Amino acid sequence: MRWVSTKRSSPSVPFIDALFAGTAPDGGLYFPERLEPLPPATLAALRTADLATIGTVVGSHLLAGDIPEAEMGRLVRDALDFPIPLVQVTDRVWVLELFHGPTLAFKDVGARVQARLLHHFTDGTPLTILVATSGDTGSAVAQAFHGVPDSRVVVLYPEGQVTDVQEAQMASLGGNITAVAVRGTFDDCQRLVKQAFADNELRKKVWLTPANSINLGRLLPQVIYYFILARLGGPLVVSVPSGNFGNLTAGLIARRIGLPVSRFIAATNVNDVVPEYLRSGIYTPRASVRTVANAMDVGSPSNFERIRALYDDDLDRLRADLAGAAFDDATVVAEIGRVYRERGYLLDPHGAIAWLGLQQGLAADARATGVFLATAHPAKFREVVEPAIGEAVPLPATLADALARPRHSVRLQVDYPSLVELVLKPEA
Ligand SMILES: *Cc1c(COP(=O)(O)O)cnc(C)c1O
Repeated sequence: MRWVSTKRSSPSVPFIDALFAGTAPDGGLYFPERLEPLPPATLAALRTADLATIGTVVGSHLLAGDIPEAEMGRLVRDALDFPIPLVQVTDRVWVLELFHGPTLAFKDVGARVQARLLHHFTDGTPLTILVATSGDTGSAVAQAFHGVPDSRVVVLYPEGQVTDVQEAQMASLGGNITAVAVRGTFDDCQRLVKQAFADNELRKKVWLTPANSINLGRLLPQVIYYFILARLGGPLVVSVPSGNFGNLTAGLIARRIGLPVSRFIAATNVNDVVPEYLRSGIYTPRASVRTVANAMDVGSPSNFERIRALYDDDLDRLRADLAGAAFDDATVVAEIGRVYRERGYLLDPHGAIAWLGLQQGLAADARATGVFLATAHPAKFREVVEPAIGEAVPLPATLADALARPRHSVRLQVDYPSLVELVLKPEA
């Protein structure tokens, strides 16, 4: 399969080029030129398959000709070594829990598969992943590449401005992960990283790769877990808590290749550019607002152009498959408390938004089974969840372990030559 740019003014490329490129030369994002549906017999077989098998079948279908099926199987088994349970919450509602990976958020899925995809295509040439983070992306990327051969991660974060847990998840790994505490802001970190990617002298000496969320290597693996829903049969209404809309893009791709979803719900916090567009037809990206579901505080969602491209920018067709729903903080916090009291299910703020969106979606469709995606472990957002339910939320063992391990960060002034020195040193 070939990959085309959403802006349609650069040539189509094979997967390996799209994987390493980040964005297309015309500034657009790569998306599939054509999506073939899975054969009906394959779809039927997926209904009883385990996660590794689903990943192998769906991954091989999307990357047919790029990765042999046996290799895909090894890769998926190694990357997805944690459960993704589908749990029943009410007689009509199920939740897909995507937060059982090492950083307890769904980004682990994309990042862990991406790390192994990159390694698969490098043929032993050492790769340096350089990434600036305000917290969550950096910890997911660091955990994802930890121990992957021929890869080194240099992750820059603003000193003192990430949470204790996030710092632990980046700085306690060691090995091929170098955590760098920058004496500056997140913007300083980003500027340093941008300068490195623009530095052709440096790039002659090391193979630098970005690991940002718009990369196909992060996006495509997310198609896999949607096929866990095949177990439920159809028709399904699926509610996706959305920020940059990578997760929902993957869902729409899953539907295009055969998952029986009658409708998706784009559920957001008050950063509701997409729900507003679905309602009014007017798309107005703007500065983001801080909310309790802060991983979704995005005012200009980068993947939405992929969704528009998948629908040839036809709003009516998009509206047939996708409805929007947006919720403010007070509603979210109250719902976390109510669902815990009445159903005994503990939501995190992001999952709560998806649950709320699903209630609207099911009200409009009396026959469908509902699924919402839970993207973060409630313990990751204890400062919101505990007051909402009036109880303590215990730390899962993975978080407690990370917090207890010794940390090693390299300190860096906001000074580009020092960053170059650090990147060139094989072991910092
Ligand atoms: C990143 C993130 C989201 C948003 O996902 P997108 O693919 O950017 O829409 C939702 N919930 C959590 C917990 C996240 O970390």
